[in-house]
Formats: sequence, C-alpha cells, structure tokens
Amino acid sequence: MKIVVLGLSLGSSWGNGHATTFRALLSAFAARGHDILFLEREVPWYAGAHRDLSDPAYCRLAYYRTLAALDDWRGEIAAADAVIVGSYVPDGVEVARYVQAHARGATAFYDIDTPVTLARLERGDTRYVSAEVIPGFDVYLSFTGGPTLERIERQFGAPRARALYCSVDAEAYRPLPVGKKWDLTYLGTYSDDRQPTLERLLIEPARRAPEKRFAVAGPQYPDTIDWPANVERIEHLPPAEHAAFYSASRWTLNVTRADMIAAGWSPSVRLFEAAACGTPILSDRWDGIETLLTPESEIVLADTSEDTLAALSRDAAAVGEAARARVLAAHTAHHRAAELEAHLAEAMQNERTEGKRMKNQNAPLTLVAGGAGFIGSHLCAALLARGDHVVCLDNLQTARASNLKLLEGHPRFEFVKADVVDPLPASITSRAGRFTRVYNLACAASPPQYQEDPEHTMLTCVVGTDHLLRLAEQAGARFLLTSTSEVYGDPEIHPQREDYRGFVNCTGPRACYDEGKRAAEAMTFDFARTGRADVRVARIFNTYGPQMHPDDGRVVSNLICQALSGRPITIYGDGTQTRSFCYVSDLVDGLMRLMESDIDGMEPINLGNPNEMTVNELLGHIVELTGSGAGVEYRPLPVDDPRRRRPDISRAAALLGWEPRVDLREGLERTCAWFAGELAAPRVAAAA
Ligand code: NAD
Repeated sequence: MKIVVLGLSLGSSWGNGHATTFRALLSAFAARGHDILFLEREVPWYAGAHRDLSDPAYCRLAYYRTLAALDDWRGEIAAADAVIVGSYVPDGVEVARYVQAHARGATAFYDIDTPVTLARLERGDTRYVSAEVIPGFDVYLSFTGGPTLERIERQFGAPRARALYCSVDAEAYRPLPVGKKWDLTYLGTYSDDRQPTLERLLIEPARRAPEKRFAVAGPQYPDTIDWPANVERIEHLPPAEHAAFYSASRWTLNVTRADMIAAGWSPSVRLFEAAACGTPILSDRWDGIETLLTPESEIVLADTSEDTLAALSRDAAAVGEAARARVLAAHTAHHRAAELEAHLAEAMQNERTEGKRMKNQNAPLTLVAGGAGFIGSHLCAALLARGDHVVCLDNLQTARASNLKLLEGHPRFEFVKADVVDPLPASITSRAGRFTRVYNLACAASPPQYQEDPEHTMLTCVVGTDHLLRLAEQAGARFLLTSTSEVYGDPEIHPQREDYRGFVNCTGPRACYDEGKRAAEAMTFDFARTGRADVRVARIFNTYGPQMHPDDGRVVSNLICQALSGRPITIYGDGTQTRSFCYVSDLVDGLMRLMESDIDGMEPINLGNPNEMTVNELLGHIVELTGSGAGVEYRPLPVDDPRRRRPDISRAAALLGWEPRVDLREGLERTCAWFAGELAAPRVAAAA
C-alpha cells in the first residue's frame, strides 16, 4: 500500500504522545512492505531544538507551512491507497475536507484522543475535527474501543469505527536484572482526577504498612500532599529509566484518567509498558480492562486500600509473567500495524471507496453556481465530503483560483466556466434531469466588487436566478437562493427578523445588490407559489473565514490583512457601527440543513451569528491576535452603509435546529492564521 499520513507530529516528541505512537506504528507498518509519506504542519513549537527526528528510515517526512501549501501534495494524496488524518492536526477540519475532496483511496481519521474528541464535539468545539467531516472518513480509528465505537458510528455517522490502541515497544520495555527495591510503585504525572485513587490505593496503604516500601515517580505533585515516610518521591524519571523502575517494583499501580474510565476500553501506554516489564499490575477498575488482561491471573483489580494491602501480601510473580506474555502476544507495534493494514484494506474494499475510484456517471448531481467563491468553495467541499457529485458553475469574476484548485482533482467534482446571466451551457442543460439540488451563490458579495459593474450585478441576481430556477424546474430539483441581510437595508428594527420588510434605498450605489437580491427573492417565491419549483431562501449575514479574498474590501479581510502587513488600518466611519460575524463552517452547515429540511419553502430564513459587536471591538480582537502595532485611519462611511446589523435566528433554530458553534475568537484565530499563510506564500515563492 501507498499511504499518506497527516499527523500532529512525527519529527518532534516534545510535549506530545503522538510522535511516539506514530513512530512505533509506522516503522512496523513500513516493515510490512508499505510505502509511507508523513505530512506534518510546520509550527514553531515543534521546530528547532524540539525536533528529535529528521530523516526516518521507514518513511518520507515532509513539512507544509500553510494550509494552502498542502496543495503541493495533492497528487500524492489523490493517488494514495489510503490517507490518514490524525487528531490534533492544526486546522484539522480544513485538512479533513481537503483530504476528502481529493483522496481517491480510503480515508481514515486516527483518533489518539477519543474521549477528549467526543467531549469537544459535544460542546461544539471543532478545533481539530468537526461532526460534519466524520461521515466523510471511510474508517474512524480510535484509541478507545468498546461501546464508544458504536457511538461514533451511531451519533456521528462514521461508516465504520475500529479500535487501534496504543502499543508497547517491547525492546525498550522488558524485565531488567535489578533487585526489587519497592513493594508498590506508581509512575505518572500528577493529575487532580487521578489523585484520589492514588491516595486510596497507594498512599493510605503506605501509612498502614510502614514496613513496606513505595515510590511515586512523576512531576507536578503539589507540596501540600502529605507523603508517608516510606513513600519515595522521584520528581523526574527519564523514559530510558522506566523499565528499570518497573523491574525494581514488586507491584506497580495503574491509575486511569476520569474520562478514560467513563469511556472504558482505553488502555494507557503505561499499562502495556509495565506489563511488558513483567511487573505485576494492581489497577483501578474500568469497563473493558478484562478484554486486555484477565483479572486475577494477569492483573489484579483494586477498589480499596484493603485490596492493595491484600495484594501486597501475596506472591505476584506469576501475574507479572502472564501479563507480559499476553502483552507481547497482542499489544506490540507489530500487532497494531497488522490491525491497521486490515482496517485500511476493509475500508478500501467498501462500496464508497469503490465509488470514489470509478466515477459514477449516473450519480445524482448538485449544482453550485458561484461555487468557486468564498462561501461556495466551502460548500462544495462539504457536499463532496457528504458524497455528492458536485458541478460548480462560475464565471470566476470574484473567485480565487486557489479555492478552485482545492476542489479540482476530486473525482466527483466538475467545474464549468459560465456566466449565469447567459443561457446555461449545454454541458448543464443536456443532463438537467440528473440535478437534484441547485444552490445559487453566484454574485459578488463585497461592495467594491459588486459596484464595479452594477448592471451586471443586477442581471446576475435577476436573470441569473431566473436561469437557475428554470433549470431546477426542468430537473425537478430543489433550489436554494443565497439572499442577504442587505434586503433589510439600513434597518429600523433590531435585531432583524425575517418578517421585517426592510429600509432599502433603491437609488443608491448599493441598490444593484440590495434590490437585485430582493428581486431574486421575489422571483424565487413566485416559482414556489406557482408550483414550478421547490425552493429555499437563506438571508445570509456577514460571514468570514479562510479562503476569503484578501483584497475584496470586506471588513474582516481588510482589517486582518492590514494588521498582518503592518499597513495603517482603515476604519470607515467612527467604528461604532455594528456587525455580527458568522464563521463560514457554521454558515455552510446552515445552508445544507436548510436545503435538506422539509420546511415550508415560502419562509426566508436568517443565517448568521447574533453575536453583535462594533467594528472597533472587532478591530480590538484582531490587533490582539496579530500583535499589530499599526495606526488606525478613520475614513468617511460609504453611502447607505447600515449602522446596525444583527440577525434574529430564532426561526433557523426552531425549524432547522441550527445555531452557530464557532465563537468569534476561535474563528478569528483560524482566519488570521490562514491569511498569515496566504500573505507569506508569495514572499516565500519570490525568495525561492
Ligand atoms: P464571492 O464573491 O466570494 O463568491 C461569489 C462567486 O460567484 C464568485 O466565485 C464569482 O466568481 C461568482 N459569480 C459572480 N457573478 C457570477 C455570474 N454572473 N455568473 C457566474 N458566477 C458568478 O462571495 P461569497 O461571500 O462567497 O458570497 C456567496 C453568496 O452569498 C453571494 O450570493 C452573496 O450575495 C451571498 N452572501 C454572502 C455574504 C458574506 O458575508 N459573504 C453575506 C450575505 C450574502
């Protein structure tokens, strides 16, 4: 197999358990004859002196500086038999989308942090993976097994979830000929949730058995702990000395994190390491432990201090030997590599992956007009991840070539260059019957861009919408119009509800867009009213995120780009006008829910983030995130610029169960990081 792995780190084991896991797994995987490319995001933390592996013998290791630079590896990602994305990868959601858009082989998510991931998904925290991308992976490989796997499939829609536990390095962890120094030891960093168990199963027994000797190795234990005199404290025990520590222990204690206990079936690497040293293990109790080591014969479970004291009084050597034999027979990196091979082979044989290989000419089609723009490119990626065959129609008027590059090459993605003002091309109309969904996003959205050719903007809204509605009518497809909060003009009510009719100037420079969208809505509802098409109308409020055009004159991109480049920052008006900013993944989620919902299409739906702030407040966040010291220039407010903007999203919440999940801080962090990469890229190219 040729595989590509995008993981947190292979090059640096500094402060993360991922590199050790990948090194063991991938060297064993390569030993089975497979070819591996590991792609790692270049981040300052894991660079320089923190990098402790530069040229692994078992795989190629390459770094990419920005999300956009990942595209240099598009060919390898597309051609690989399987592509694996790990947990904690920076911009993991975007990386997942990219992989799902381009990989033709099987795709896998390897979660080394499953309980943490699931808790985050519950909270809507999408730092490295989101619920939306999970169904797009052919297999979800998890450090946690048991019922959690079923939950990942049922609740998050993974086609299959399989356990791929941590493993032990049997060379480094083996019994060493050192004398027994302690009766019971524990090796682990202090943690609040483990401390009560340590207190119960080691510290209290030490008090009660002063003749026995104990040791606790690991950092960060607070000074307030009252250690009995027969407990030796070892603040720092280098990994190279772990095996000797275990070998010098008659028993060692295994204490599990609360989230791992709650999930069950989550062995820690320390459990396997102690067992591989032949040291008898006394462990806290959690579901699934019996599937790894048999209680009594291979491990002893303890609930109370008395249980510990009883264990210490028995001869344990046979327990340690049995545990070592079991771990060596099932939990080394070689076992994991064989399991990984089997899981990937299974994923590669499934129908979906077959489908990816053989472009299915009869699959239903989704048309995204304006799909090469900012929101459109995110929507196309999400639709591809869901399994749609996407036809993107765009005249490239305000599109970014790199947005399109991210999508091209996907076997279910097609690009048609055309202007919606013109009659739709034959490549679309000749297969009208196969379209089931038509999204209309075609229209420049930023004022300087849509005012450049106002007549064309108006025609795009009106004539373009008419062409796309007729296609939907002919196809029997559902049609979604992306309208805008601008239909409310400079609003007199606040926040804006869908039944507010707006305060729009039909003679000003913004009218081509505002009135164009109002006319497009009118026409869309007429098609619905007369039974010609099943329609949905979204009124989008300010949206931001990666893949925006750096020069499109919108407030978020303007402020970030100026702050990053150190140019004076321009604020139009006095900055007290308000806006509400929605992160693009939330918006795309709303659009897709609206399209798929069975609501009455005659109701427009606001989609936006109600978190309202002044432009000055937005600037404050951006200055803080970018560390910009640039001065601020205040310029006159453009004509008809709305003073206040905030959606009432109660209709979307009630009908679609939708609300934004990415908070402003997180969204801005991702957007600033993306723009920083974009602004750096040409300079890097020029320097090269
Ligand atoms: P964008 O300018 O990045 O994308 C618009 C896309 O439509 C571009 O790729 C452009 O080339 C294409 N296009 C324009 N005119 C066309 C034509 N006549 N024929 C074919 N293609 C054409 O804008 P965006 O931010 O991605 O906005 C997408 C949609 O969402 C627009 O309809 C916009 O009105 C609406 N919207 C966006 C926001 C926002 O904050 N981004 C807010 C409200 C509404």
